[in-house]
Amino acid sequence: APIAPARAPAPAPATPAASSSIDDTVARIMAEMAGTKAAPKPEPLAITPFSDHCPTGGTDCTGCTGCEPTDGLVSFSISDEEAVTLGDGVFATMDEAVEAAAEAYRQYVFCSMSARKSFVDGIREVFTDQAFLERISRMTVEQTGMGNAEDKIIKNRLAAMKTPGIEDLKTEAVSGDDGLTLVEYSAFGVIGAITPTTNPTETIICNSIGMLAAGNSAVFSPHPRAKVVSLLAVKMINRKLATLGAPANLVVTVQAPSIDNTNAMMTHPKVRMLVATGGPSIVKTVLSTGKKAIGAGAGNPPVVVDETADIEKAAKDIVNGCSFDNNLPCIAEKEVIAVAQIADFLISQMQKNGAYLVKDPAVIKKLEELVLTPKGGPQTNCVGKSAVYLLDKVGITVGPEIRVILIELPKEHLFVREELMMPILPLVRAAHVDEAIDLAVELENGNRHTAMIHSTNVRKMTKMAKLIQTTIFVKNGPSYAGIGVGGEGYTTFTIAGPTGEGLTSPKSFARRRKCVMAEALNVR
Ligand code: NAD
Repeated sequence: APIAPARAPAPAPATPAASSSIDDTVARIMAEMAGTKAAPKPEPLAITPFSDHCPTGGTDCTGCTGCEPTDGLVSFSISDEEAVTLGDGVFATMDEAVEAAAEAYRQYVFCSMSARKSFVDGIREVFTDQAFLERISRMTVEQTGMGNAEDKIIKNRLAAMKTPGIEDLKTEAVSGDDGLTLVEYSAFGVIGAITPTTNPTETIICNSIGMLAAGNSAVFSPHPRAKVVSLLAVKMINRKLATLGAPANLVVTVQAPSIDNTNAMMTHPKVRMLVATGGPSIVKTVLSTGKKAIGAGAGNPPVVVDETADIEKAAKDIVNGCSFDNNLPCIAEKEVIAVAQIADFLISQMQKNGAYLVKDPAVIKKLEELVLTPKGGPQTNCVGKSAVYLLDKVGITVGPEIRVILIELPKEHLFVREELMMPILPLVRAAHVDEAIDLAVELENGNRHTAMIHSTNVRKMTKMAKLIQTTIFVKNGPSYAGIGVGGEGYTTFTIAGPTGEGLTSPKSFARRRKCVMAEALNVR
């Protein structure tokens, strides 16, 4: 029978005056915690859609004067066919693309910081237009066959709005008898950025903002499966930057993205830095080039639930986080480790919130055959598919309220060990929270990427944080709280665990340079 979750004890009655206010505070916090609601599925961040200005809703611009005052997006919308043609940052060869980005960088060095800010703001504007957001989100799902458009709208908007800009580059100053020294964040030059199928436009938006804010130009090497939407994003950035007076070709790519073109980019002498957002193979490749490289690699984020957690809230958060964009985000919950005392109750609560529990070994076998390759990794054609789709493929029809396929499994199972990137969520039981934490560390596999815990025991939360060493560690929230949806802080779609930059931002794409004025300008 389900075991009710343990609750925090009621605070002791206040007695002496000195302890009374402490007791009141404890009581208030306890009451608040008891009443905490699960984070809702993320709502779209508030924006004013540009298409509001357009009588056609921004989809069928006729160049009417109504759009002129806002210098808007609809005045340069690009069709899907036009997206893959040459021009506006799209080049026939990687050599041409890099040379153009190098020339753009030479000019960009002499642009003011306020110009940089306006270029970054221009990129934000392109990708917060509601009609364009919807278009690229739908296009990505159609082209890659992965994820769902509704969640991609949230992710794209998040990248546009919450990626830090030039304010991230804080100058340090030291002055004394020997003068004044500044340490400033300065550009690398041309950066080569490799982007994943799972977040194609999000990564282009996030990296373009971060790299341009730091004074670089960027050459993108998108995944071939996300070609059209990636080229469209690059073209729209170029057209917008052109209206703002930016040097041409600050953001470029090639007409036919391929592994050969990625290799050409990585070895091009004018590319000074490489940033790979993707799986282990591409991270290893960039780190072997001999160039400065940032590797944002794979994760396998575990979520621990102990007996002190608010189990109803944990269940909702886990289903919401795991099913976000059909589990494509590298930060999304990939396996649950539940303390035995509350495991049944957690499972029942997850079922109430959109999890479909599979117990039949024959169905589990069918799912294994469906989603795993002979080598044991995920089948590409199942990555980013919905729970409804995957269940249908094994002969089970469910309604759209089902968002996660929940299966209790031993820790050795491939569904637990592999980063599946689809809403199949294995649950492993642990005897107690210490065992759960040790197992989470084992399953995270040294990626140092992301982990979650639902608990009210601060000592155990601290213990897990220290042992697991992930870049993102979310307590009592869905995984997406870690990238700024329902959690504080900025966002990034390039989370660099392997090379240690962690949550990349403009200063990750900059060098620290020292500028020394000897014997002068100390005015103290
Ligand atoms: P992927 O590794 O297959 O591809 C990523 C990019 O690298 C693509 O552009 C691809 O064309 C290129 N690429 C891959 N192997 C290459 C090679 N040998 N030579 C040249 N180019 C190569 O990954 P994916 O399926 O597109 O994305 C999913 C993976 O990315 C998951 O492992 C996920 O965890 C990871 N990811 C990590 C982050 C992060 O911030 N850490 C963000 C998103 C995705």
